[in-house]
Amino acid sequence: MANPLTPDVLVDPVVLTRTLVDIESVSRDEKVIADCVEDVLRQSPHLHTERYGNTVMARTGLGRGQRVILAGHLDTVPINGNFPSTVVDDLIYGCGTSDMKSGVALALHLAATLPEPGYDVTYLFYEAEEIESQFNGLHLVAQEHPEWLRADFAVLLEPTYGVVEAGCQGTLAARIRTHGRRAHTARAWRGVNAIHAAGEVLRRLADYRPRTVTIDGCTYREGLNAVRIVGGVAGNVVPDECEVEVNLRFAPDRTEKQALDHVHEVFADFDIEVTDSAPGALPGLGAAPAREFLTAVGAEPAAKLGWTDVSRFAALGIPALNYGPGDPALAHAPDEHVEIGKIRDGAATLHRWLTAYE
Ligand SMILES: [Zn+2]
Repeated sequence: MANPLTPDVLVDPVVLTRTLVDIESVSRDEKVIADCVEDVLRQSPHLHTERYGNTVMARTGLGRGQRVILAGHLDTVPINGNFPSTVVDDLIYGCGTSDMKSGVALALHLAATLPEPGYDVTYLFYEAEEIESQFNGLHLVAQEHPEWLRADFAVLLEPTYGVVEAGCQGTLAARIRTHGRRAHTARAWRGVNAIHAAGEVLRRLADYRPRTVTIDGCTYREGLNAVRIVGGVAGNVVPDECEVEVNLRFAPDRTEKQALDHVHEVFADFDIEVTDSAPGALPGLGAAPAREFLTAVGAEPAAKLGWTDVSRFAALGIPALNYGPGDPALAHAPDEHVEIGKIRDGAATLHRWLTAYE
């Protein structure tokens, strides 16, 4: 197959978005698109290119004082009657238009057309973001080629509708158990009802006042919620155990350990089992390239409330944020689309940022 990513396509991020969407690349099937991207990057004399699995890395080596990463995943969720792309007025429809081939197009367009950016740039096009973490290209590169990820700042081009979304909240899941003693309900006084005891757990949840925390101008709203409740033995038995599953979403000024301590504080005297935990990421907008990036965007940042790959960079000590042309509300939807104007704005913003200090 001739590579559809020709020089004419690479100079126009809108045409490039469509061309990338039209290369099918559902997770675990990214070989063809990775081949095409690798081929383009290897033909660019200003880039040093390497590949691991279906993840492709290319970087400049200009000896600049700072290095930034532009990253995007090549995979999409399964197609759903929305392949290949179509254009209606100023919208491109199709699987991956928003999440996140329009973002990948911005990075690939800059990689191919900007030989002397003001920062050294590492471009990272990775596989398998939409499936289990063990296959995630960024996760694999962090294990096998951590030197590819050395940088002062990273931008993930995930859909944010042109808004800077910084940092992300952490998450902790735990089971709060109450214990009692079984008895026949006809002689209930001989038992202790564990479901009744769970009333106190629910009362504490109902009384809970979550924090709102502002860091670097980004406001994070925490939450502590019961997400499941299990208990009961039979219609004539006083139950001896009840379990309330709770989920804490915590602002990134708390570590995982502090979040856990907090759960122990709220549910003091109860039996607590943690079932899942992932750290948040501070917005890290103090880094010089991050400040310049915000200037180029010219709008206030917002807090990212969900968990994203930004945390993987944060875990490596690299401040990172999300910024992309797609609308996150349309990601994974059958009518997924992207506005052509948002692609043009994004390309202009990134270009402004990367050429400000040439
Ligand atoms: Zn995505």
